Amino acid sequence: MTIQARHPRLLKLTDPPIILGHRCTRCRRVAFPPDPYGCEKCGSSWENLEGLDLEARGTVRAIATVHRHHHPSPSTPFTVAVIDLVGGPVIKAIVAGVEVGVGVAVEGVLVEDVADADGNIMVDLQFQVVT
Ligand SMILES: [Zn+2]
Repeated sequence: MTIQARHPRLLKLTDPPIILGHRCTRCRRVAFPPDPYGCEKCGSSWENLEGLDLEARGTVRAIATVHRHHHPSPSTPFTVAVIDLVGGPVIKAIVAGVEVGVGVAVEGVLVEDVADADGNIMVDLQFQVVT
């Protein structure tokens, strides 16, 4: 049995978790997810992008509650938020809890998902309200 990130190129399984972004060495733009083609802002090629560890912390910009979707996991209802990360990029992620609202501070947590047939456990990033 192993424990692995569902998206290993986007996430480090550390405590607290680290989101793997990149920064343009020419214009300093920080982005997530990493773009294999180059910088969206200045047009610099991918060779001018460097990996950057981003803190999984931020502020909720918008929320939506999902009541129905086509996968068995996560179970409904759940809340998806648009989050302004402290490092700059904006991401969408599931936020646990009922007290989620616009302007609330959130932090990343690793959540174990269902195991596959070999017992390997997938881990994914979710957010929770900072208390
Ligand atoms: Zn750039």
